[in-house]
Amino acid sequence: MRRVDRIKPSATMKISSIAKELKRRGEDVIDLGVGEPDFPTPKHIVEAACKAAMEGKTKYAPTKGIPELLEAIAEKLREENGINVEAKNVIVTPGAKYAIYEAMMATLEEGDEVILLDPAWVSYEPCVILSGGKPVWVEHGENFEDAPIEDYVTSKTKMIVINSPNNPLGVVYPKEFLKKVRDLAVDHDILVMSDEIYEKIIFEGEHVSLASFDDMLERTITINGFSKTYSMTGFRLGYAAAPEWIVKGMEKIQSHSVSSPTTFVQYAGLAALKGDHSFLKEMVEEFRRRKEFLEKSLREMDLEFAPPKGAFYMFVKVGMDSEKFCEELLEKKKVAVTPGSAFGRKFTDWIRISYATSMENLKRAVERIGDFLRG
Ligand code: PMP
Repeated sequence: MRRVDRIKPSATMKISSIAKELKRRGEDVIDLGVGEPDFPTPKHIVEAACKAAMEGKTKYAPTKGIPELLEAIAEKLREENGINVEAKNVIVTPGAKYAIYEAMMATLEEGDEVILLDPAWVSYEPCVILSGGKPVWVEHGENFEDAPIEDYVTSKTKMIVINSPNNPLGVVYPKEFLKKVRDLAVDHDILVMSDEIYEKIIFEGEHVSLASFDDMLERTITINGFSKTYSMTGFRLGYAAAPEWIVKGMEKIQSHSVSSPTTFVQYAGLAALKGDHSFLKEMVEEFRRRKEFLEKSLREMDLEFAPPKGAFYMFVKVGMDSEKFCEELLEKKKVAVTPGSAFGRKFTDWIRISYATSMENLKRAVERIGDFLRG
């Protein structure tokens, strides 16, 4: 089968498009589908993009990104994450999603096995397939905080993908689990892709970067971006930090595909990293309030869910075919959520609720979901 025929369009984007279309037609739809912070992009960041554009930063940028931003990202990774990288190890991309795609294209060969934890964010598997790799799904264990990856490592294992804090589970993996991943990667010479895009949205536990462990710098691709931390989804700005041979491969792919990330947008990224971060505390506190409200409401509805410690999602067991559940909930109650089937193999009777929406919307949505469940 052709590679492109083996992947489906992104389920989260699909649900969100349907919800947007219904809203456009005047329906009162509550969208809990998309993973997009509902907070405005901080003003100083928007102003930096406008200023750069007005100053004429409107031409091609260097393929890998503007040097100031590469330096600022390397400095951030050294200081905040304990990842000992230089600008030469960093590439800026149009969104973290594209960094993931490019990194897999640059490292995977036909038939290479890539370990994904079930459930995992919707785009890893398609990126593996488009790069010629073979996804190998591993089920989580107790509390979704561990997984028996060791049982699935073979001579063909090329990469393990870890996403902490996690989408869709909200799990922040404990250090012991990450240490196990490190030991497996070092012992079997495996690359690790560590997607840390939710690193700043944590309620409980501590963020640990895999590349900061001993001997991991030469085998880790750290993925991060501006979409979630700075509410900059529409700017399309992300990055990867990796060994130079991987960055060089990604740079080649970037030079023949998108050329570079948008030039003036990169100045907004620079302002984000260098500017005031006080808004973050408020944003995380608001997410915490919503999470607590949802936990209480779901318990009242007797629904099982993964206990979230970070990001802004609840993964909830609904006990029926998730695609059918989502279609009917949208049709009958005008609430958009994402089917668990989009996130892997096993969770076909779970759904993902994104609480990146106002408390008022959440309250209305919970009432509607309650009505729906009561039939
Ligand atoms: N990784 C994860 C785990 C995500 O949830 C997302 C966005 N939904 C991305 C990467 C991509 O983010 P972006 O392309 O907007 O930077």
